[in-house]
Amino acid sequence: MEHIIPLTKNGNNDIENLALACFHCNRNKFDKTRAIDAQSDVEVPLFNPRQDSCSEHFIWSWGGDKDA
Ligand SMILES: [Zn+2]
Repeated sequence: MEHIIPLTKNGNNDIENLALACFHCNRNKFDKTRAIDAQSDVEVPLFNPRQDSCSEHFIWSWGGDKDA
């Protein structure tokens, strides 16, 4: 279970703040809530599965080719 806003940053255990994540994604996110966007080089909020649209942020790519 992933805390979208980490408990260390005043997040809570309410359902609106929780998301399912695999071990690797949960560990990689750690307590981050923002990151540098690789295309714009600007700091942005991380994807929030409770508020943001998957189709606006992700595309499916067979074989994992990020440039597809
Ligand atoms: Zn994952």
